[in-house]
Amino acid sequence: MNKPLIIALSKGRILDDTLPLLAAADIHPLEDLKKSRKLIFDTNHDHIKLIVIRATDVPTYVEYGAADMGISGKDVLMEHGAREMVEVLDLKIACCRLMTAKVKGVPRTTGRLKVASKFVNIARQYYYEQGQQVDIIKLYGGMELAPILGLAHEIVDIVDTGNTLKANGMIPDQLIADISSRLVVSRSAMKQKLSTIQPIIDRFKAALAHNN
Ligand code: AMP
Repeated sequence: MNKPLIIALSKGRILDDTLPLLAAADIHPLEDLKKSRKLIFDTNHDHIKLIVIRATDVPTYVEYGAADMGISGKDVLMEHGAREMVEVLDLKIACCRLMTAKVKGVPRTTGRLKVASKFVNIARQYYYEQGQQVDIIKLYGGMELAPILGLAHEIVDIVDTGNTLKANGMIPDQLIADISSRLVVSRSAMKQKLSTIQPIIDRFKAALAHNN
């Protein structure tokens, strides 16, 4: 029997925007992805299965070919490095901005800048390109707290409405990248399963064209 095609989905915020797009691409999970505690799901296509995993794990599954395709935020792909995969479509969902942010009304330190972020690779690269020497401090959430308690001067984080920053006395500063979710395909699947994958990509394309 042929191995099924695995599509990795990011759970959480992106999943809400992904589900209507999947339905428009005629991929229907046989169970409610948000209610079940399962991690792998059958669909209306015998040969297509969905896995629902942490957003940051999606590129890892795709990189190693354990998942053939994935839907992942550009922020996660940039931070991961996204080796061994091809970004085939901008799905234009979960749109936001990756930005530096600072405390309102406080001038930039003349000393060495400390930056807190969960996007340590992106932050390192960004400040390097700016010619700015920085210490990057890895955090897993609640980055806005770091400047308040003096752990860092600036943060690099996702900004959507800007309300989280504002509520913590911070303002967005420099834009690093516009973010949206992307459809990615593992290089090995691209070589070995293109005849199965191409119709799926085409259905996503049609669904997007219909949305716009
Ligand atoms: P906001 O207060 O609307 O600017 O939302 C910012 C917070 O929501 C950030 O701390 C992010 O962690 C999270 N967030 C907003 N949009 C996204 C997205 N598309 N992907 C991941 N995280 C997001």
